[in-house]
Amino acid sequence: MLKTATNLIDFDKKHIWHPYTSATKPIPSYPVCRAEGVYLELEDGRRLVDGMSSWWAAIHGYNHPVLNDAIREQLDDMAHVMFGGITHRPAVELAEKLIDLTPEPLQQVFYSDSGSVAVEAALKMAMQYWQSAGKPEKNHFVSLSKGYHGDTWHAMSVCDPVTGMHTIFGSQLPQQDFIPSPSSPFHGEWDPVDLEPLLDLIETKGSEIAAIVVEPIVQGAGGMWFYHPRFLAEVRRICDENNILLIADEIATGFGRTGKLFACQWAAVSPDVMCLGKAITGGYLSFAATLCTKQIAETISNGNPGVFMHGPTFMGNPLACAVANASISLLLNSNWEERVHGIEVQLRAELKQLQTLPHVADVRVLGAIGVVELKQAVDLPVIQRRFVEHGVWVRPFGRLVYLMPPFIISPDELSQLTTAVSQIISTE
Ligand SMILES: *Cc1c(COP(=O)(O)O)cnc(C)c1O
Repeated sequence: MLKTATNLIDFDKKHIWHPYTSATKPIPSYPVCRAEGVYLELEDGRRLVDGMSSWWAAIHGYNHPVLNDAIREQLDDMAHVMFGGITHRPAVELAEKLIDLTPEPLQQVFYSDSGSVAVEAALKMAMQYWQSAGKPEKNHFVSLSKGYHGDTWHAMSVCDPVTGMHTIFGSQLPQQDFIPSPSSPFHGEWDPVDLEPLLDLIETKGSEIAAIVVEPIVQGAGGMWFYHPRFLAEVRRICDENNILLIADEIATGFGRTGKLFACQWAAVSPDVMCLGKAITGGYLSFAATLCTKQIAETISNGNPGVFMHGPTFMGNPLACAVANASISLLLNSNWEERVHGIEVQLRAELKQLQTLPHVADVRVLGAIGVVELKQAVDLPVIQRRFVEHGVWVRPFGRLVYLMPPFIISPDELSQLTTAVSQIISTE
């Protein structure tokens, strides 16, 4: 039986978990039946301009003919085969592209099925590396407050300890060390005081630190903060001087979102391990990659047990690799830098005046990311409904109302987003 939109919503409400929601008092979910370009179409026919890119992922918009074709063509050959003992063209072509695009020393690719798993793999690589290098005492991780690295167990342990999930899972989580999120803003002055907590920590327990895990330049789901590139460059130097690996989680920032292909490029930094996800498939399929240097790969392989201990069932999924290949080619053959720059200029021009409102704490823009930070948390179901009534899809969290539209958005469509944000925030 074909369900009506009301049936759908009712069943969903009764039986399906959504991200971070209650099963008994869920906030409303909006039924989407189609998506095309920058539009999400609701079951009742309303069309919403998408300001979220489905959480950083849909950089080319939805229902893109080139990406659709890439999946269809691959589907006719094979949807999936195991990666144990088998390889295939889409996986090899993608690895060639990733190695080519990312900083030179990253030469070894590990595929997985989601960003969180890519982070788990990165942490395991760091642990296995130090074990194999004869330094098993190096088994702690350092990360930044306001960081976000995923929802699985170890990834959770390196997320912000206050806004993350430490309060719930507390003592069961592996205990990591945190340093404050750098206070020097991307567009402001560099203040070397930002390095002191890290230097102090290294002084006391540097010999136990396996790696520092950071989101380069843009801290995403933990606070939407843009920090000074100098911080990243200095962290790289400090890692080198103290025998600590640098893990760059580019899952949100990768593939052009900040105005560089990878955010590490703002500081000309090459990490030892890099995690990619989200936009890697243009938002089509859940897929991720963890890249590391040959030195790490070889050390692990010369150690005991001499293999890297991870292997997801859907590792290297051919459909995902095929659409990732198509998405990356589409990106590189587009004028993405100009587009992201255009979005940045427009976001800044159209959001800036909100800064003067008494309940707005800050307005900041970098690349195709615009953030309005309020002084108080929003009432999510209420503000969400107002955005939908304005014909746009914007999903704030906490005190943050932000836009990160698909790169293909037109100036008029972007104005619809900024107008809705301005009107709704002005009357909050
Ligand atoms: C989204 C995100 C993750 C987790 O990716 P999933 O695919 O949701 O598991 C990890 N790190 C960063 C920086 C992210 O933005």
